[in-house]
Amino acid sequence: MDSVVIAGLGIAGSRLAGLLAASGFEVTAYDPDPLYRKPCGEAVPVNDYTESIVRKYTKVKAMVDSFKVIVDGVTVYDENIGKPVWFIIDKSLLVQNLRSEAQDNGAQFIWGKINATETNRPSSNDSVLVDARGPFSPGQGRVIPVYRVVYKPKIDWPMNEVLIEFDSKRMGFYWIFPSDSSNRLVNAGGGFYGLSKQCNLPMMVKEYIKRRTGVEEVKLQGASLIRIKPKIDLFDRENRVMKIGESAGFLMSITGEGIRPALLSADLLADSFKKHGSDFISLTGHYAKGVSPLVRETVLSTKLFEIVEKQPVNKRFNVLASVPRGFWRRYFQAKLSLNGVILSALKEPGRAWRLLPFIAKLF
Ligand SMILES: Cc1cc2nc3c(=O)[nH]c(=O)nc-3n(C[C@H](O)[C@H](O)[C@H](O)COP(=O)(O)OP(=O)(O)OC[C@H]3O[C@@H](n4cnc5c(N)ncnc54)[C@H](O)[C@@H]3O)c2cc1C
Repeated sequence: MDSVVIAGLGIAGSRLAGLLAASGFEVTAYDPDPLYRKPCGEAVPVNDYTESIVRKYTKVKAMVDSFKVIVDGVTVYDENIGKPVWFIIDKSLLVQNLRSEAQDNGAQFIWGKINATETNRPSSNDSVLVDARGPFSPGQGRVIPVYRVVYKPKIDWPMNEVLIEFDSKRMGFYWIFPSDSSNRLVNAGGGFYGLSKQCNLPMMVKEYIKRRTGVEEVKLQGASLIRIKPKIDLFDRENRVMKIGESAGFLMSITGEGIRPALLSADLLADSFKKHGSDFISLTGHYAKGVSPLVRETVLSTKLFEIVEKQPVNKRFNVLASVPRGFWRRYFQAKLSLNGVILSALKEPGRAWRLLPFIAKLF
């Protein structure tokens, strides 16, 4: 029987563990934390694939159909898309259920850390090790802290709406997402790529929350990490390591979306294992082909982030304010492609003309 060692039982690792164990692989998985508590926005774009997973493994706490994007205090996009676009899920429950299913299928869990680049792996030498340590894996891209809190606003906050408020100088945003529509809780936070060392992010998030929702004092629920401008890195042939989720670089830089890519990459790697077992060369080839649409989407997101970042600070606002409405609509629905960027710009030339030189550089 082929054996697979998995480092990390977050979204990607626990999904993969379940799929492989169900197919008869001998799975050993490591994670330091028996309870998955990573703070998150918990937003997942609605499509047939995500719906099948969300409905089976977790509960939907709110549905989003409206988006507001503010840049440096100016509203640049405000639309009700007219259909559900994001699920707000219970992410810890998702991981807990994926883990339970994997154990039921025979996967062995060890509650401790493993260094996925080391060759002295605990299983036989021909086993494959999968790095699913998310932002805790030493991949490329900058890992930044992100703070968030779940709380009840003083004012009546719309439970179907997402607010994203960009700060073009600091290259990041604050957000307010619904968190639990039945208890009227929201999830607010912030993360910035270009934050200077003098800035106190927890204090900034608290002040933002007070300014937008009137709540004087919230208890911040700690920071987590996110990898911005990731480099796609799918495997390490020398050490027989495959990578999935954020560890492989699957993170959309503009909005920080990583749950759907983590699930998808785990599914695609499971397909590759089922076809090729631990024949490493065939495995890498099959996986690289399977994930290529996700790679294209991730790279496009990074390039778009870099377009804004490379502008002089005083020009970033103009670029962000020129982004066509169709772009935002596609982006939030996780339907972004190069063709989509071009089409949305062509449909709104009056707004997007400033972006044409940048779009040309995307080819
Ligand atoms: C504040 C915040 C808000 C976010 N909001 C959203 C959102 O709304 N929607 C969205 O789609 N994405 C969001 N993301 C991104 C999303 O959370 C991640 O991209 C996603 O969880 C990645 O899944 P993963 O399985 O790759 O990694 P993770 O879910 O991070 O799992 C990694 C696992 O590896 C374990 N680990 C760490 N070190 C080791 C080690 N040495 N050995 C073994 N195990 C180890 C960790 O304990 C963890 O369980 C957000 C991220 C943050 C930080």
